[in-house]
Amino acid sequence: MRIFLSGPSGVGKSTIISAILGKNRDLVLSISYTTRPPRRMEIEGKDYFFITRQQFEEMIEKDAFLEWAHVHNHLYGTSISWVESTELAGKHILFDIDVQGVGQAQEKGSPGCYIFIIPPSMDELRSRLDKRGTEDEFTMKTRLDNARQELTAWKRYDFLVVNDNIETAIKDIQSIIDACRCSKTEAIKRLPWLLKIA
Ligand code: 5GP
Repeated sequence: MRIFLSGPSGVGKSTIISAILGKNRDLVLSISYTTRPPRRMEIEGKDYFFITRQQFEEMIEKDAFLEWAHVHNHLYGTSISWVESTELAGKHILFDIDVQGVGQAQEKGSPGCYIFIIPPSMDELRSRLDKRGTEDEFTMKTRLDNARQELTAWKRYDFLVVNDNIETAIKDIQSIIDACRCSKTEAIKRLPWLLKIA
């Protein structure tokens, strides 16, 4: 099962992701490749695979990405071989990717459950980013401009979850994941005999 989760920065995605991973032991977070420098406390191979722009471009040429995108002036991408080997190991994957990446995954016909987390308002998003305090003013403006742009992509998603209250948002996303386990694509994997019944 592939769960695609997007949402502008500051919407509460990281908190939601930690909670969801804690509740679903068979679900792992996709580890992307990025040209963004590591933040304090980030670990190579756990948070991201940190690579140079040249290495990233070589991967694009080799068609190594399921999707990739420019996000906040850096490149981010999901490696096809990482996804395939993780699925072969019997794990479900939670993808934290932006709206451009979701567009590409959908164009490539990737099955999955596509969820978009929406802030209650743009003012609320700005104040959450302010409180986080990890961004300088330029980065903050870029992230807010990007958020407005990203929100125009809401129609691509199967589910829209408003993060007004973090506990409710986590509960809503858990319900969606539980429903996705029963989607035709997933359920049929457990019911191969059904395919023989015309
Ligand atoms: P951050 O720099 O805060 O770790 O991530 C910034 C944004 O990049 C996040 O909103 C996340 O959704 C997006 N992102 C992370 N990895 C990928 C990826 O592999 N592909 C795409 N398209 N977006 C990604």
